[in-house]
Amino acid sequence: MIYFDHNATTPIDDRVLEAMLPFLSGFYGNPSALYKLGRVAHSAIDGAREQVAALVGVNAAQVIFTSGGTEANNLALQSTSLNNQLAISAIEHPSISDTALSLTPSHKIIAVDPNGLISPETIDALDLKPKSIVSMMLANNETGVIQNIADFSDKLNERGIIVHSDAVQAAGKIPVSFNQLGVQRLSLSSHKLYGAKGCGALIVERNAQIKPLISGGGQERGLRSGTENVAAIVGFGKAAELALAELNDRTKKLLSLRQHLENELIKIPNLTIFSQNVARLPNTVQFSIAGIDGEMLLMQLDQKNIAVSSGSACAAAGGKPSPVLTAMGVKPALAKGAIRISLGKDNNLNEINTFITTLNSLITHYGNHIN
Ligand code: PLP
Repeated sequence: MIYFDHNATTPIDDRVLEAMLPFLSGFYGNPSALYKLGRVAHSAIDGAREQVAALVGVNAAQVIFTSGGTEANNLALQSTSLNNQLAISAIEHPSISDTALSLTPSHKIIAVDPNGLISPETIDALDLKPKSIVSMMLANNETGVIQNIADFSDKLNERGIIVHSDAVQAAGKIPVSFNQLGVQRLSLSSHKLYGAKGCGALIVERNAQIKPLISGGGQERGLRSGTENVAAIVGFGKAAELALAELNDRTKKLLSLRQHLENELIKIPNLTIFSQNVARLPNTVQFSIAGIDGEMLLMQLDQKNIAVSSGSACAAAGGKPSPVLTAMGVKPALAKGAIRISLGKDNNLNEINTFITTLNSLITHYGNHIN
């Protein structure tokens, strides 16, 4: 099978699995227990905390482990007072947009341009009080577009506004520095960088005032109660360590694979690559072919054992045109044709060539069928 959907999830790296396995068998202690078996688990979590902190250049004490990116995003928005005003970009993941809607239906939406980029003027125009929260994702899950968060956060911080960024897609694919971004909160997810599902983290500034979403046994310094998923956290740490060590090599390989893919894609008549000329994640390309339905193409590729996405998983389930493309002003007919390819570190040139050959034959078949 050819797997081109790494923005949806990644396979667990063998080295990550190896690090996790002891904590699914022999080392089963509760990390809160005082005897040796508990202390082993506790210290493994401490090690993972250091590894995740290193990935984004923070101190281990700034890492709060969660059940994934969704919880980290919920915590980022819900952990402050309900009096705070809220603004989010128009292209956020539902774990931000739906949370914002339920917290304060009157929250502000920060528009994006046709390339999916937030413009500085839109940020300047935000009339928010100090202690408001602005949430802008670092890299978009569909188009891969990377925002200049650092350019915005300086001005927002000067006005006492808290900046959160969802870095779930960015981490492990591009360098991410919490301090350079100038944010106060940052969300991460393990399964997007070759770790296990159901594990993530919210990174917060030192001495952050955080109201927990989940209370109970006081784990994670009282900020996220619940017995820790030790194996997943250990795996997340290992995955973060590998992502940091291998970032340059992975990026180089992904960029060259994607360049080849795009060179072939642009030969196809009526094909549009979204946000092609702005900074994007090295692994992501989203395109649409006028007159061809994305979901139909996805199903036909699936029959040929090629896994791609027709947009974000949630949008795909709803059958509606992608809200991200809609926010960029893409016409519904073209947006409904969207196919997202998200490459991974273990893909190769042969797979790209097989995909292109298969795509071309499906398009020819489709063309013959409708003529
Ligand atoms: N944020 C973005 C940008 C995502 O792409 C995703 C997952 O698709 C999430 C958040 C949610 O992360 P998780 O699956 O770990 O809950």
